[in-house]
Amino acid sequence: MKVTLPFLAFPFGTHAAPLLTLTRCLSSSAPNLRFSFLNSAKSNAKVFSKIKPDDYRNIKPCNVDNGIPEDHVFSGHPLEAVELFLRAMPRNFENGLKEVVANTGTKITCLFTGFVLLVCGRYGGRNGRSMGGALDCLAVFCFCPYVHRCHSNEHNTCEGLTRRSHTWEFRRTILTNATQNGTHDARKATALAMNAFEEIDPTVTKDLKSKLKMVLNVGPFDLASPPKSYSDDSGCIRWLDRHEPASVAYLSFGTILTPPPNELIALAQALEAQKVPFLWSFRDTSKLHLLEAFLQRTSTQGKVVPWTPQLQVLENSSVGVFITHAGWNSVSESIAGGVPMICRPFFADQMLNSRLVVDIWQIGASVEGGTFTKSGTMRALEIVFSSEKGKKMKENIGVLKAKAKMAVGENGSSTKNFKTLLKVVSGCEEI
Ligand code: UDP
Repeated sequence: MKVTLPFLAFPFGTHAAPLLTLTRCLSSSAPNLRFSFLNSAKSNAKVFSKIKPDDYRNIKPCNVDNGIPEDHVFSGHPLEAVELFLRAMPRNFENGLKEVVANTGTKITCLFTGFVLLVCGRYGGRNGRSMGGALDCLAVFCFCPYVHRCHSNEHNTCEGLTRRSHTWEFRRTILTNATQNGTHDARKATALAMNAFEEIDPTVTKDLKSKLKMVLNVGPFDLASPPKSYSDDSGCIRWLDRHEPASVAYLSFGTILTPPPNELIALAQALEAQKVPFLWSFRDTSKLHLLEAFLQRTSTQGKVVPWTPQLQVLENSSVGVFITHAGWNSVSESIAGGVPMICRPFFADQMLNSRLVVDIWQIGASVEGGTFTKSGTMRALEIVFSSEKGKKMKENIGVLKAKAKMAVGENGSSTKNFKTLLKVVSGCEEI
């Protein structure tokens, strides 16, 4: 019987897009296999619109229930849609998987994202076999190795990090519960694939390998599988090209977050006072009025746009610092670009990522007190741009960037791991 490989995406934040990148890498290396991409209709429409049909000929997008009742009126809480989706799990994915089996007459082999590991727990059983024998293999894809390291450690300690950095910071949201349960279930998985590279932290890699069946770091994706093209409707790259090397501050807080009004104002004041050229990806245009006067005064100093080609921005030599919420993709892309960071994490893994950037890898600074104030942000900018510590951060991130490049090179660790993952997905019997 033929095999279909369903990929189950978590349709919020930047989870579905890197999973689709991985799916595409595998599907183009295994053109005879069939892949299904289970995701909410909205997220599927978004992620598939960014790639050409020729790039996903053997991947079938499948929409699953998003859990939103028909007559539902949103309260405006930013996590409401997430909670509804989590409540609909695992039923929505179960139904999706049944449809895949019914429509294709195939048996299924699974890959999961970190946040939908709950389904993995439900289906996994011993050796990942259940669902009437349909499920031969479970492989888990997670964006960040540290989430698993911390949650999988029985003594609740995480080498190199303080207890604080991974206990209360991770326990705050419903997402956290999903991740924690998922980590427990990850032990049953045949393989755990991650958007990271082994050399980023050999200790963590070794530890995970000792606890889980197969740990495969196959990233960073932005280096392993760079996009073939990009759009730059706002002319960000042309604007950056006019600036001195390492002189510009790039600001972005990912796809979900906008800092609160007082912090936006403090950030703007700090940039203006320091006279730092800036490129700001400002997603929530409804809040732009808060900065109206600032934007008028700084029209030649900076550029504010609704979206940037971030990968290319971080690769541009004019960018000297990335002011970020420390989402895993942003951190990974900053490492790939060799750009030191100023981190202002808000929730979930951002707290831990920030701790790694600042204290462990020493490739960035935090802001005093944990929130943007004018003086705290000015100080952080001074550290990165003009201090010995900032110089060292630049050196450290240069070393990590070189290791990342090596990992995705011909004989690199991520390349080898990818080949192993390919074997896992193309023939579970072989492992
Ligand atoms: N991104 C982008 N342009 C923007 C803002 C964000 O391309 O103007 C991309 C960025 O490259 C990254 C993703 O959005 O791949 C953000 O992912 P991250 O994990 O950092 O944050 P999240 O959105 O999940 O909070």
